[in-house]
Amino acid sequence: MAPFGAVTGTETVRNYAGGEWTDPTGEESHPVLNPATGETLATTRFSSESDVDETVGEALDAFETWSKQPVEERIQPLFKLKELLEEHQDDMARTLVEEHGKTLGEARGELRRGIENVEVACGIPSMMQSGTLQHAAPDIDESAVRQPQGVYTAITPFNFPGMIPLWFLPYAVATGNAFVLKPSERDPLTSQYLFELIDEAGFPPGVVSLLNGGPDTVNALLEHDDVEGVSFVGSTPIARHVYETAAANGKRVQAQGGAKNHVIVAESADVEFAAEQSVNSALACSGERCLANDVVLVDESVYDEFRAAALEEVESQVLGNGLDDETTIGPLITPEHEESVREMIQTGIDEGADLIHDGRDWEADGDGNFLGPCLFENVEPGMTIVDEEIFGPVLSLATVSDIDEAIETMNQSRFGNAASLFTDSGRDARKFKEDAEAGNLAINAGTAAPMAFFHFGGQKDSFFGDLHAQGEDMIHFYTDKKIAIERWDY
Ligand code: NAD
Repeated sequence: MAPFGAVTGTETVRNYAGGEWTDPTGEESHPVLNPATGETLATTRFSSESDVDETVGEALDAFETWSKQPVEERIQPLFKLKELLEEHQDDMARTLVEEHGKTLGEARGELRRGIENVEVACGIPSMMQSGTLQHAAPDIDESAVRQPQGVYTAITPFNFPGMIPLWFLPYAVATGNAFVLKPSERDPLTSQYLFELIDEAGFPPGVVSLLNGGPDTVNALLEHDDVEGVSFVGSTPIARHVYETAAANGKRVQAQGGAKNHVIVAESADVEFAAEQSVNSALACSGERCLANDVVLVDESVYDEFRAAALEEVESQVLGNGLDDETTIGPLITPEHEESVREMIQTGIDEGADLIHDGRDWEADGDGNFLGPCLFENVEPGMTIVDEEIFGPVLSLATVSDIDEAIETMNQSRFGNAASLFTDSGRDARKFKEDAEAGNLAINAGTAAPMAFFHFGGQKDSFFGDLHAQGEDMIHFYTDKKIAIERWDY
């Protein structure tokens, strides 16, 4: 195996199963391209059905022993993993930037949130405890336990390759399950790096596995008899497919989908701060974030001030390679995705929205998938750019007459991942918390990104299932409850 982070050139990305590095044997493959330069970094060969079968089989064997290990022993490799992740954070962030395109600061930030999840999972000895009640009835004591269930998998998207696998992996193994990761075929090198660290961390063979692949690999996992549960993060159509297929096959499933996040700027808001936060939330990671702001609904009394401040913020952005210090917006993931975002912008114009800042002709050094920031105004529900996810550096503005109209407009969206409100009014804030149909709410902040000790999940078409990612929800997802009722008279 190459040293940490050195998977470059046209090497084939490897699987990790039963504690060994193996090569996927499927027919199909996908190139891993540097989005800033177009350079080929590696090839993702897809895992075949038999690769899936072998990996899940090894994981199930490992589960038999791992699930009975004392909990203190199960968390020791996680402490080691945290140490290794911190030691390699900067180098791993460079790998992430090279295959994904975001800026180094953004990559370091997402790895920090990943490490935070490892830290939280190290608290399993307390988090996994259940209740006991003496004298629940005459001569009867009752006690509840949580038990791990078997082999779990997580199927993850391209946009946070360093963080999203760690929403799941640490909790799955700390609770005593075996875990199989299927990362995005578009940027699998960060997961490859993670598994180089996992190989060092001291997990017994088979407890944690890596399967590279595409849709067929996912479907083989969804249909495999020995996969107990599935976590998915990705676009809404695939989330729905994963949810329905996994549930039809009798598995536990949680599936996070796409988003269309609204921001409300009330009359009493600090307008300049709201503009700065909204724009930066829209453009961070080039808009390839499920928490990115998409539409800002501004009270008409402060619209002109907001518009001017937003334009100034947009114009101050620097497009370029994420490895350059001055870059604030990196390239989009692939040329195909860049094309789809450009088509969306044209659709916005064709449907009557006004493009007040056009970043389509912004240029940057290198043969990358570069697109500058775009700002629309005069948008309304029913327009494609308001209703559908764009996943690029595009923000739309509209006016509203008050908070009630803003919440009503926002709630017309079929998505419900995140929403923000800027206000100085407790009444506005209270109403927003009560009525906003979104799973992640922010007040006077542009992005609602919960810390690892809170759950992360959306509503409506942004989420299928009940238990969310991160924190305590993960303990419930990865365990089943059992109650023992005991009668002893003395
Ligand atoms: P995607 O749906 O294309 O891919 C996600 C995963 O699904 C990948 O591992 C991919 O290999 C697999 N996949 C793709 N097509 C499949 C198919 N037909 N059958 C089975 N599996 C398939 O998503 P993406 O483009 O990688 O990621 C971006 C999307 O993820 C956006 O919609 C974004 O909003 C969403 N996202 C949501 C959250 C959240 O928490 N709600 C977080 C991050 C990203």
